[in-house]
Amino acid sequence: MSAAKATSGNLFANDPAFEVTAQTVSVLPPLPLAGPYDYLVPEGLSVQPGDFVEIPLGRQTQRGVVWGDAKGDVDPAKLREIYGVLPTAPMADVTRKFIDWVSAYTMARQGAVLRMAMSVPDALDAPKPIFRFTLNPEFDADGASLRMTPPRKRVLAFLADHPPMEQGDILRETGAGASVIKGLVEAGAVQRLMVTPPSPFELPDLDIPRPDLSDEQVAAADALCAQQEKGGFSCTLLDGVTGSGKTEVYFEPVRAALAQGKQVVVLLPEIALSAQWLQRFRDRFGVTPALWHSEVGQARRRDTWRAVADGSARLVVGARSALFLPYHDLALIVVDEEHEHAFKQEDGVMYHARDMAVTRAHLGNIPVVLASATPSLETLANVEAGRYQRVALGSRHGAAVLPSVEIIDIRKDKPERNRWITPTLKKRLLETFASGEQAMLFLNRRGYAPLTLCRACGHRFQCPNCTAWLVEHRAWGKLQCHHCGYQAKAPDACPSCGAEGKLAPCGPGVERLYEEAVETFPDIRVEVATSDNIMGPKAAAELIKRVHNHEVDLLIGTQILAKGYHFPMLTLVGVVDADLGLAGGDLRAAERSYQLLTQVAGRAGRGDRPGTVLLQTADPANRVIKAIAAGDRDAFNEVELSQRMTHGMPPHGRLAALIISGKKEKEVDEAAWRIGRAAPRGDGLMVLGPAPAPLSLLRGRYRRRFMIRADKGIKMQALIHDWLSKVKTPGSVRVQVDIDPYSFM
Ligand code: ADP
Ligand code: ZN
Repeated sequence: MSAAKATSGNLFANDPAFEVTAQTVSVLPPLPLAGPYDYLVPEGLSVQPGDFVEIPLGRQTQRGVVWGDAKGDVDPAKLREIYGVLPTAPMADVTRKFIDWVSAYTMARQGAVLRMAMSVPDALDAPKPIFRFTLNPEFDADGASLRMTPPRKRVLAFLADHPPMEQGDILRETGAGASVIKGLVEAGAVQRLMVTPPSPFELPDLDIPRPDLSDEQVAAADALCAQQEKGGFSCTLLDGVTGSGKTEVYFEPVRAALAQGKQVVVLLPEIALSAQWLQRFRDRFGVTPALWHSEVGQARRRDTWRAVADGSARLVVGARSALFLPYHDLALIVVDEEHEHAFKQEDGVMYHARDMAVTRAHLGNIPVVLASATPSLETLANVEAGRYQRVALGSRHGAAVLPSVEIIDIRKDKPERNRWITPTLKKRLLETFASGEQAMLFLNRRGYAPLTLCRACGHRFQCPNCTAWLVEHRAWGKLQCHHCGYQAKAPDACPSCGAEGKLAPCGPGVERLYEEAVETFPDIRVEVATSDNIMGPKAAAELIKRVHNHEVDLLIGTQILAKGYHFPMLTLVGVVDADLGLAGGDLRAAERSYQLLTQVAGRAGRGDRPGTVLLQTADPANRVIKAIAAGDRDAFNEVELSQRMTHGMPPHGRLAALIISGKKEKEVDEAAWRIGRAAPRGDGLMVLGPAPAPLSLLRGRYRRRFMIRADKGIKMQALIHDWLSKVKTPGSVRVQVDIDPYSFM
């Protein structure tokens, strides 16, 4: 038997239930099952922890990862044998530890987490080999009786002058047919070589000089590079105002890690819109990095997964899921825009990629850099506590200065009826266009109007599957639910009272604002940018080009325009409804609104010309509005933190949510009631609920919520685990645990 027996036989501690003689291991399949299962290792096969293997599971053949020693909880006589080991580099120890850790933290099944790391099943197969042809050096052309034909001569002459070539290239260059090559191979004159396909990713060029960094940027870059060279775990907040050159600065430790011959991952929130970022990366490192996000095609995903696993993809840029790739030798993680809520995955395994990135760095004993102009309160609290370090960039790069912010009180400075641009904003827009500059109007609402109402009977159009109004999209002639995607044709008559021509849009969306802008400024070129029309990196790149070429004077958009973009001629930003994000009042409403408005404001005046931001509000005394106008982030954060402290909310205390959902309302209520009766009690602990979720109906499922608040020392996961294990709920009711919730819907 193989040598592996001695190292990974069943030596499970604490007296396993069964005595085992054959070698057994546990294997985790990428499925939301109970955990790893024990398997027998057939005679002659050697397996190590981390190996990708094929196993029988039920009536199917599954692929999984050898997780470790057998658990010894099943009679070995009943165990099934592993079919074989797949030709893939084994999963690194650190990746398996990470999966276990994420599973324990988020309370998602290990297999569900593993599935994120095995999202491209066919990447586990051996890559298709390619064949190349070359002259056989041992072939004696004179001695052998090789019948020479003109095509054969051409092929031999061609191969004599070239490195091994693929058949297609040879045929194209010589005009010979495939049978000619075949004949030469059979005669022994030409050799067929099997080669592994080269990695699709080029090595970065580390000799391109960096741009001239300012003193402040040099200091920040040096601090980050020092961490990188020292090695080991560290978490550093790169805290720099918008336009301060954070990207240029974190490229320096990226370079240092690449120079160590290792891998780097950069997580970006809106990967689809990172065309400008990619260009800057290309300028700095001469190559395109490996991309990892939902729009990457299947074949490319497979090649990328393999190249990450074998280490030939040195730099990966991706959305949150890039964190779960099976890195060969990861040496640095960068989380750009670390405050972004898009890093929280809200379905399946509910995890926050920024927090998990810190964990991944810790387990891998490597540095992580968190970059933001508006860091999250969680991160600031960690800096305060000395757990994270902080490197600051206080000023914009070059001649650019931060924009000035002015408040427009829409109660005094009123727009006309069913209009949203105030006279002051209109005047300033006109001035901007007159001086040949560009402007942006920000309104975080897709579609034409957020609500449609019948003026005859008061009927409101609601989604049949969700607790939500239908949003009119006039461009498509449709009403749409923004939660489940339900669509209906916009009717002419009210479905409730039958009145015709009485349906009225209420409130503005970007489409309606566009209509107003075109009517108000007939001579200027207006363009709308939302996730409805800017789908994918290509459309985003084209938009960026049009703005850069000044084919657009006024850009109207939602939050997709808030981040990252750098348009030097954009000098005026109008926030049409600065109060929008403040309504609803969830835990982070003020913080999120502050961050979003700061980011939007940060688009103005990034070039030589100074920028202005106008905030339209009905609540100028609101502390978020005031803090933005004053540019006083510290004051805002201080008030926000002290309020959270008073209520024991994050980052001072911990939160978790339970979401109970199902198709039958009665069953959901009953399950929620039973879970409520078993709720834990104790000091430093508060359980609220069950309460109907604000979205009490979502995609046809009824939803009830619990909110658990606990002091920092309390082991939240253990508490919830105990709690839920006491209650039986029917299979038709789903109980989701959301640790550190960001959505309260
Ligand atoms: P942030 O991410 O902090 O908002 P960016 O990294 O986007 O800032 O930088 C803003 C702009 O200034 C970009 O166009 C960037 O290329 C440019 N920039 C920053 N630092 C430098 C530098 N040292 N030399 C040249 N250009 C720079
Ligand atoms: Zn819906």
